[in-house]
Amino acid sequence: MKKKINFQLMVITTVAIFATMILISAVFYDIYQDQIVDDLKTVTTILVDTAFTDNDKHLLENHTDNTEYLVRITLINGDGTVCYDSEAEDSSLMDNHNSRPEVIEARKSGEGISVRRSATVGISCFYYARRLDNGTIIRVAKEASSIFRIYINAMPVILVIVLLLIMISLVASRLLTKRLVKPIEQLVDHLGDVDEFVSYEELQPFINTIQKQHEDIMKNAFMRQEFTANVSHELKTPLTSITGYAELIETGMASDEDIRRFAAGIHKNSNRLLTLINDIIRLSELDGTEQEVVLERVNLYMIARACVNMLQFSADKHMVTLRIEGKDCYIPGNRQMLDELLYNLCDNAIRYNNEGGIVVVSIRDLGDKVELKVRDTGIGIPKEAQSRIFERFYRVDKSRSKSTGGTGLGLAIVKHIITKLHAQLDLKSKVGEGTEVTVLFLKKMEAVI
Ligand code: ATP
Ligand code: MG
Repeated sequence: MKKKINFQLMVITTVAIFATMILISAVFYDIYQDQIVDDLKTVTTILVDTAFTDNDKHLLENHTDNTEYLVRITLINGDGTVCYDSEAEDSSLMDNHNSRPEVIEARKSGEGISVRRSATVGISCFYYARRLDNGTIIRVAKEASSIFRIYINAMPVILVIVLLLIMISLVASRLLTKRLVKPIEQLVDHLGDVDEFVSYEELQPFINTIQKQHEDIMKNAFMRQEFTANVSHELKTPLTSITGYAELIETGMASDEDIRRFAAGIHKNSNRLLTLINDIIRLSELDGTEQEVVLERVNLYMIARACVNMLQFSADKHMVTLRIEGKDCYIPGNRQMLDELLYNLCDNAIRYNNEGGIVVVSIRDLGDKVELKVRDTGIGIPKEAQSRIFERFYRVDKSRSKSTGGTGLGLAIVKHIITKLHAQLDLKSKVGEGTEVTVLFLKKMEAVI
């Protein structure tokens, strides 16, 4: 980046130096031309006022001979013949000058100016002609170098100046680039506390993104840490129970009756461990893969019916009526994921229900979407807990959930599945009245992906 900025600055500077040089030269050359014409006018006035007052060309001759004029003076009669020329040996041999532009102009308006490039390459001649009262034209001419000749003459000086300027801008652009890049370099070193180092408002959106990512990473790290701590804790509880029961049996002091009870305890806790481990494995599976799920056309109603049939036994045990409503509805989905989703929702609806309660699973076709609803007349979820129940290991009533074998991972898995299937989830619940979970699936494959 530094190199690029440096290079571009140098290119701009070099172009600017040359452009300024050319433009300024053009302006100065213009002034220089005006100056020459002004000089010629002054010389003419002096000549007319002093040497020429008595119209004596010999006096003029002496005048020009004595003083080292760098101008050429010509006197042209009314008929165009040259009666005097400061550079001609014999002015009578010169051709008629009435066709010269400056002479024509002077005859018309009193004075005339003309710039002509002489045969000698690069040398321009400036002519100034003035008409005198008697009709004679006095013309003063001076050679002037062209802009290129001036350049060539001044080339060594120009080169030195340009080189000097380029060297100065080289150092300046290096310093400038360093200063420009410094805040960015500082930013990289202090990603945690960027606020102190932001000196460009243009960088703000970039910093916001980086900061957000940084925060996300930190949050993720924290969540992982919390998850690990939770997992360890959740594993420890049933394992402690198992060890306790085993120890009691080991002492040989337990009666047969006790041994059976302890064995049941060991069995229950081992099952809990297994469920927990299965859920954790499933969560990490869903968490780990960034890739899209392979979707197939599935009948949501059939999957829901299978799930309801499977959980019928559990519902009976909890004295809950479980039923399904609706008809065949096809969606792009993944059978295993939908099984898990339905199982977790129905399982919760049964477990957090009251004796004599009802659970209704309904599937409805909404045109471009299919709606799955799991409604129960259970204990409900308090408002403040509604947003948290999808967190890992979160349970509203720890003792109730644990007593029914819950790990607090069911809805976390549901949330993952919903995301993977690009579905929408809505939860309505009232304590003491019941809970209603709605999931909306898109019917079109293209709309999903
Ligand atoms: P798991 O599903 O892993 O066996 P769990 O049921 O405790 O354990 P989740 O399914 O994630 O975990 O549910 C989290 C908490 O949300 C539950 O502990 C419960 O307190 C509450 N909850 C979930 N569904 C309902 C419901 N239908 N009615 C009342 N409370 C519910
Ligand atoms: Mg659950």
